[in-house]
Amino acid sequence: MGVQHWDVVIVGAGPAGGRVATHIAERGHSVLLLEEHEEIGRPFQCAGLVTPNAMKEVGLFHSILEEVDGALIHGPSGTLVPVGTEGKVRTYVVCRKIFDQGVVKQSLEAGADIWLNSKPVDANVHDDHVDLTISRNGEIINISASLLIGCDGAHSWTRRHFKMGKPKELMIGFQAEVVGYEGRDRWLEMFSGSEIAPGFFAWVIPSGNGSHRIGLWSTAKRLEGRSIEQCYDNLLKHPLWKDRFSNVSETARYCGPVPSGMVKNTFKDRVILIGDSAGMAKPTTGGGIGPAFEQISGIIENLSAALTKNKLDKKTLHGICSKHFSKMHKDQNRARALRNLLVSDCSDEVLDKHFNSFAKPEVIQLINEVGDIEKPVPLGMALLRKVPAFRKLALKAGAKLIFT
Ligand SMILES: Cc1cc2nc3c(=O)[nH]c(=O)nc-3n(C[C@H](O)[C@H](O)[C@H](O)COP(=O)(O)OP(=O)(O)OC[C@H]3O[C@@H](n4cnc5c(N)ncnc54)[C@H](O)[C@@H]3O)c2cc1C
Repeated sequence: MGVQHWDVVIVGAGPAGGRVATHIAERGHSVLLLEEHEEIGRPFQCAGLVTPNAMKEVGLFHSILEEVDGALIHGPSGTLVPVGTEGKVRTYVVCRKIFDQGVVKQSLEAGADIWLNSKPVDANVHDDHVDLTISRNGEIINISASLLIGCDGAHSWTRRHFKMGKPKELMIGFQAEVVGYEGRDRWLEMFSGSEIAPGFFAWVIPSGNGSHRIGLWSTAKRLEGRSIEQCYDNLLKHPLWKDRFSNVSETARYCGPVPSGMVKNTFKDRVILIGDSAGMAKPTTGGGIGPAFEQISGIIENLSAALTKNKLDKKTLHGICSKHFSKMHKDQNRARALRNLLVSDCSDEVLDKHFNSFAKPEVIQLINEVGDIEKPVPLGMALLRKVPAFRKLALKAGAKLIFT
């Protein structure tokens, strides 16, 4: 008996894998999802923010715990910049377990197969297929696919096995689930400063039933030997903010990586990376769900046609992916450059000055008009062009930002 064959085998049943599987199964191709855990949506390592566009795409409104209208952003010395409008939803807070399970369920309803407790141990690409050796419930099974898609997250086996490069940045995220925080309804909060979240920010996000998620992210280099938990403790004990956290009790805590900056090779002969495995998370917010959905919807029609012809060599995949992926790559680079210029590469003193400029009514108005967490580049460019205090920065950034 020959080995079982699927048109597409996807490694990883997270939001990227589930979404890709749905698109592919809906177009009539056979798909197998491999998930190394026994359950979808665990372990959970996410603040759970899902943008309205990503939510609209999957319609999983029952996974929403809270709607968020805006962010109260605090500078290192306490300057407040409120961004958002009461009653206008900017983002949703979801239960990741229900969300991920919903995304994967949609793929099964569209005809995809799933093997839980299963992971690849070897893969070899041939002219017309990929041979895969899978460990399923500890048993070794050989299968084949026309195309292998790696949706296996930040430490992707697929990416490492096929030597497809590394994401440009690997941020470390930490989060605690708490009760006892008194925040403003429908608003999240962000805190900055080198003791709290060097180069990045900490967050407090309402997560339903009086609970909140307190988290922060940074890079190993910027932490300069400190642990991420130390920065979390610094936030809770900070002279400006400690009163807010005085009644907080933790119910859970976890840590996870945020890979951002697309890898050098997002595809090879008969292999593609999607989502965190490809380094898709946003350099400005760490959000990875929306970009993963965007990555697949941008290529699916042409990919489906190539699957029908079983023409999936690197050159054909280049024709399908490169235009769309290069634009995403370029947007990420610009967003990172703007983030570094305005926030990440600034001392607390300089960041305070920037916050004083952000807090001016006309600048808040500009942020609310142009600001979109899904498209931070137009906002950054508008700030550099229109806010007098940032014009010098624009000159410093010069051609690098405008033309990269
Ligand atoms: C603290 C923190 C907060 C975050 N907050 C947000 C947020 O608010 N909004 C947002 O959009 N993003 C957020 N992110 C990022 C977000 O979690 C990821 O971008 C998103 O989960 C990426 O989806 P994915 O499907 O590519 O990868 P994952 O969600 O990592 O899914 C990968 C799946 O593959 C499976 N897998 C891995 N290796 C194998 C293997 N070898 N074989 C079989 N299966 C395998 C895993 O078990 C998992 O199910 C946050 C990240 C962190 C760390």
